[in-house]
Amino acid sequence: MDVKQRMQELSQAKYGQELSQCGDEQLYHVLLQFTQELSQSRPAPKGERKLYYFSAEFLIGKLLSNNLLALGVFDQVSQVLAECGHTLSAVEEVEPEPSLGNGGLGRLAACFLDSIAALGLPGDGVGLNYHYGLFEQKLENNKQSERPNPWIGDESWLIPTGKEFEVPFGFGPVRAKLFDIAVPGAHTGIANRLHLFDVENPAPAPEGGIDFDKHDLPARLTSFLYPDDSDEAGRLLRVYQQYFMVSAGAQLVLKELEERGFDVHTISDHVVIQINDTHPSMVIPELVRLLTQKGLTMDEAVEQVAKTCAYTNHTILAEALEKWPLTFIEKVAPQLAPIIKELDTRAKAAHSDPKVAIIQGEAGKEVVHMAHMDIHYGYSVNGVAALHTDILKSSELKPFNDIYPGKFNNKTNGVTLRRWLEVCNPKLAALLDECVGKEWRCDPNRLNKLMDFYNDTSVLDRIQAIKAENKRALADTLRREQGIEMDPESVFDIQVKRLHEYKRQQMNALYVIRKYLDIKAGKIPERPVTVIFGAKAAPAYVMAKHIIHLILCLRQLIENDPQVHPWLRVVMVENYNVSWAEKLIPACDISEQISLASKEASGTGNMKFMANGAVTLGTRDGANVEIADLVGPDNIYSFGASSNWIIELYEQKARDHKLGYQSEIYYQRPDVKPLVDFLLNPVLTQYGDADALKALWTDITGKDWFMSLLDVESYISARDRAIHDYGDKPFWARKMLVNTARCGFFSSDRTIAQYNKDIWRL
Ligand SMILES: *Cc1c(COP(=O)(O)O)cnc(C)c1O
Repeated sequence: MDVKQRMQELSQAKYGQELSQCGDEQLYHVLLQFTQELSQSRPAPKGERKLYYFSAEFLIGKLLSNNLLALGVFDQVSQVLAECGHTLSAVEEVEPEPSLGNGGLGRLAACFLDSIAALGLPGDGVGLNYHYGLFEQKLENNKQSERPNPWIGDESWLIPTGKEFEVPFGFGPVRAKLFDIAVPGAHTGIANRLHLFDVENPAPAPEGGIDFDKHDLPARLTSFLYPDDSDEAGRLLRVYQQYFMVSAGAQLVLKELEERGFDVHTISDHVVIQINDTHPSMVIPELVRLLTQKGLTMDEAVEQVAKTCAYTNHTILAEALEKWPLTFIEKVAPQLAPIIKELDTRAKAAHSDPKVAIIQGEAGKEVVHMAHMDIHYGYSVNGVAALHTDILKSSELKPFNDIYPGKFNNKTNGVTLRRWLEVCNPKLAALLDECVGKEWRCDPNRLNKLMDFYNDTSVLDRIQAIKAENKRALADTLRREQGIEMDPESVFDIQVKRLHEYKRQQMNALYVIRKYLDIKAGKIPERPVTVIFGAKAAPAYVMAKHIIHLILCLRQLIENDPQVHPWLRVVMVENYNVSWAEKLIPACDISEQISLASKEASGTGNMKFMANGAVTLGTRDGANVEIADLVGPDNIYSFGASSNWIIELYEQKARDHKLGYQSEIYYQRPDVKPLVDFLLNPVLTQYGDADALKALWTDITGKDWFMSLLDVESYISARDRAIHDYGDKPFWARKMLVNTARCGFFSSDRTIAQYNKDIWRL
């Protein structure tokens, strides 16, 4: 196919002008259509078994570059654009970013779709078409506010399919319309689909912020991802959303089964449903219901479903494991309640331990424990990193592992290196081509060959030169887009991820306070450091918002202090999303992965940073453990209490009903108290809301549930050591090289190959 000619034709047809006369906006729309045509001309992969990946989130990011790469025309399109005086990255700026996910979990689902297609496997995603996404974050007056993020324009990646299903809610039936997004596979000729369900008449964006009438159903079902669940109407809406997704999804699965010519009695031979966290769990009873409607007995339906569904657990945080009041389900989908009760009765008959029951609680106050339903009625339960799976098996889900020892398995997460290295860091990718050959793009384990260059000063110099260029590019972009000034010669120390107390952005802020106080006391750091944050807080998560407030107040304090800011700067990127991640990660020197050990199931940000030659400063948590094993202790900065110790401390707390040991640390460690007390200092509080900072102080000194004070001293010394080592250029460059060389294991192609071998067998 002649790429240029087709682009010319499209530009003539759409705009009546030559390609060379088009601006970025027009070129984007030409390329959108061009890419859609190519994707839609590809067949779906063949196979007797098909996977459906059910997920409430798909944080797919912008698709243009990604799809051009998968379609094998990235270089040709870049060439054509260059001939007309444009660049692909500028054209892609026009694309709105779909925000169909919160963070890691949704991004994982997107990486998985990319890898499933790249391996040529038949596997589609199933989710919801949120019109205003998560939300767009604004930072004003040192606080976060939220706006809708409309991403669906007249032309978008959505393909109307004309397919419709009827979802039977308690208040009446609602039509679910299906839209698809094509998922072309790299290195294969096929394309899969991401299926997104929508209501017939979606409501317009709310005025001003993101508040809306949560009772306005069905129009509001697909407005936002996870509406504010701090009140009952918000929680109920989530159950409505979940049932909408799984009922329409299950009907699609059955319709395709029939179209593929298979008998409904053989569904488990031909369909796998992977349940991504507990949000889609109601697919289990819904599928049982639909199968019995199609003539299967209850026994047979239950057996088939239990051989069709598999569950991925993403968290051990108790507050994140969904338990819905039975009354919610009776209201949302009354026909589902008797089936869930039946599933519970069967589970209770087989296993008397009340800890493994699906329905728990006294009469009238029963809750449905979604994960328990998944484990009893799924044939596989997987964790997402070796440590996480061990914790599930040995403590969190131990009673289940005792009953079903063979069900539990680990699938360490991964990321698609196509997006997270090839596209986002083309200069490094080109250097890797030169060093190890282009084959790494299909077989990332080849990156290990980079180790041959461990002592090659010219390669080490080029790795550092590329990092320096990426840092300058980031500084330029942030100046242009957000008016942020930063010194590209300084160390870029980056923590970007959702804001959560367990991820401990507050501990990072305590480090900033340490350095600030040192500089004010005349103790000048070895070299300038830029501490970069990016994080959205859930709109109803008060403590997370206080932490953002602290970071922004520190930023302003330091910005106003000419004694401090040559050495220490704080930057908070507004509206952290996939597009920002693609710019930040290639420019990072030190990757902050500092969650409290045992709390981050895996992390995937850590893997993206590693691939791009950032050195991890992290706790031995989640996949950091596996990163440490791969790069060796000299190429990572590990610190902090071990997960075993932390689990023991939580057990002690539960036994002794103790709220915190931290008050002891606060009072006993002379170096720690002034850091926390700085939150009350008028020098800081003049820039913000003294009450919010006081509330944060009270929490850290009194409760500190995620133990930032326990680790803060070892954190400060590990971080200072990393910043010191950075000064020895060849020494640091080798660490960068080793991190990139060892990242092949974290390709999501590897993860998906393992899912397929052990769970899906497609
Ligand atoms: C990868 C990614 C995440 C996950 O980051 P973690 O550090 O693993 O929590 C979150 N948000 C975006 C935009 C990402 O690209």
